[in-house]
Amino acid sequence: MISFDTLVSHGFGSAHVFVDPCSGLRSVIAIHNTRHGAAIGGSRFVSYLSDEAAWLDAIRLARGMAYKAAVAGLPLGGGKAVIMKPAGEFNREALFEAFGRAVESLGGAYVTCEDSGTGTADMDTVRRVTRYAMGSTAGSGDPSPLTAFGVRRGIEAAVAAKLGRDSVDGIHVAIQGVGHVGYYLAKELADRGARLTVADVNAENLDRAVRELGATAVSPEAIHAVACDVFAPCALGAPVNDTTLPQLACAIIAGAANNVLAEPRHGQALADRGILYAPDYAINSGGLINVAFEYRPEGYNAAEVHAKVSAVYETMATIFERSASIGRLPHEVADAMAEERIYG
Ligand code: NAD
Repeated sequence: MISFDTLVSHGFGSAHVFVDPCSGLRSVIAIHNTRHGAAIGGSRFVSYLSDEAAWLDAIRLARGMAYKAAVAGLPLGGGKAVIMKPAGEFNREALFEAFGRAVESLGGAYVTCEDSGTGTADMDTVRRVTRYAMGSTAGSGDPSPLTAFGVRRGIEAAVAAKLGRDSVDGIHVAIQGVGHVGYYLAKELADRGARLTVADVNAENLDRAVRELGATAVSPEAIHAVACDVFAPCALGAPVNDTTLPQLACAIIAGAANNVLAEPRHGQALADRGILYAPDYAINSGGLINVAFEYRPEGYNAAEVHAKVSAVYETMATIFERSASIGRLPHEVADAMAEERIYG
């Protein structure tokens, strides 16, 4: 059962529950904080095994968004919505319109955008009833290239910190998942002389990276164990877990995936093995930076977005420097930086 204590332990905020019997909407909008601005975060539309699982997902994800925005220095809070996917038939437009009314009722404290299970067409529907939605077809489009750009800058910072190299030229990167972000990341790296090994469960995506970028393909079961400089997870959550950890053969872990560590203790295990870990929410903030610029009153400016995403390098360099100087793990340093900004 989700309790007030659950919210307190995640540093909340508020959680709002919405139901609409006509459309079948069952949604939780979690707002971690609005201290520095609106709580922007995606709407996840997936099947949940229980109400509690949906609640917890919203709370954890909203906290993640708050920390991501804070470390990136964005004038945002952190929020996330989960919408439970109905088991039977449903009218998608009616459901997303009802969700839009829920978002509108929060008066701008929460601003939604795409996430797993939602797309630009859904955001177009939401926009019919609220202006607090980004990522519609009228917006700046697919954020993946910017996320990939930020990850490449973060990899460059990690390579400098761990290997003393000032570029990725000649660096061997193993990429798990060459979908939206993974493909653009592979391209960013290949253009700068990196050697690539890739894996994907989707044969089409895999072939594209091999054909267009000269990457070497390995099986999805083998990618984490490739002997390389950088392992870049760009697919699922928890690629670093009890099973994969002993098999890792990289110097650095830095990729786009959220929730890279299955559990926080795996951060210590990586350090014990001499592997430098680039905290996920700090390195993969390019997409959120893009949305933040789309939302701000001054309007979108591509050059400013580019400069801000490029600064992921400096953010990561600061995390690695502090980590080395105070003897704390990189993900602990990132958390402390986020908390300093949110509560300081
Ligand atoms: P995507 O679905 O486009 O790409 C994921 C790719 O991984 C797909 O090609 C899929 O076939 C592949 N894949 C799935 N399971 C795999 C496995 N076991 N082994 C190898 N490959 C596998 O998703 P995306 O938008 O590229 O996002 C990738 C990751 O980055 C996700 O964890 C996402 O949460 C995170 N992320 C994305 C963005 C963004 O801007 N899209 C921003 C921040 C974080």
